[in-house]
Amino acid sequence: MKRIVVFTGAGISAESGLSTFRDHGGLWDKYPIEEVATPEAFDKNPQKVLDFYNLRRDLVANAQPNNAHKALVKLAQYSELNIITQNIDDLHERAGSKKVLHLHGEITKAKSSIRESLKYEIGTQAIALGDTCEMGSQLRPHVVWFGEPVPMMDEAYKIAAQAEVFIVVGSSLNVYPAAHLTEQLPLNCKCYLIDPNAHDFEKDRFEKIADKASVALPELVGKLINSL
Ligand code: NAD
Repeated sequence: MKRIVVFTGAGISAESGLSTFRDHGGLWDKYPIEEVATPEAFDKNPQKVLDFYNLRRDLVANAQPNNAHKALVKLAQYSELNIITQNIDDLHERAGSKKVLHLHGEITKAKSSIRESLKYEIGTQAIALGDTCEMGSQLRPHVVWFGEPVPMMDEAYKIAAQAEVFIVVGSSLNVYPAAHLTEQLPLNCKCYLIDPNAHDFEKDRFEKIADKASVALPELVGKLINSL
């Protein structure tokens, strides 16, 4: 079966009602990124950081997978599919996808703020100040903040290095090291990029599809399945 890798960003969940990083209005204006998504922010004002992620967890819990998430479940029936996502939401899993690698963590998990390996499933539950891991340290969301290492990056490189088809959906490709993945693909890999602003990307080897994920991805999946 053909090895297909799909790299998703905030844009794939936009039509499920979860705003992207660069959307104006609402969440991202109220909580500037440097005040909520860095280790320094958590040291300075942990309550504000926890509030922000508790709010995001609620929004995710109330969102539903859209036709783009669902199209990938179908594609997995006809290919060896791996999804590498920058998203912390669980919409790929709730759509039914199995092989999903979260580069930037998962909002449905908490972790110890002193030991990375101590992780806890919390589902839709909020994290409060005073909630601690078994070593007694404050719990934080299991997300990778700006300035922190991305532990799953090596695994992602390995997966991308095997790709015969690589599809980017809804990522500005502005967040590193995640965006480096698009620079490390095999020479003979066929590459697609789905984004309403696809033509603004300087990515010559990618076939650009300038449309919303919920429209463009099911169409591309149909085309790929017919050609497999
Ligand atoms: P980004 O916000 O930088 O870029 C989103 C991209 O999606 C843009 O290029 C935009 O044109 C495109 N887009 C908007 N609507 C779309 C649609 N309907 N269909 C297809 N594309 C659409 O997102 P990023 O590159 O993922 O980087 C942002 C960072 O913030 C990531 O690290 C991510 O973890 C995080 N983030 C995650 C979520 C989530 O989990 N749902 C939401 C916001 C931000």
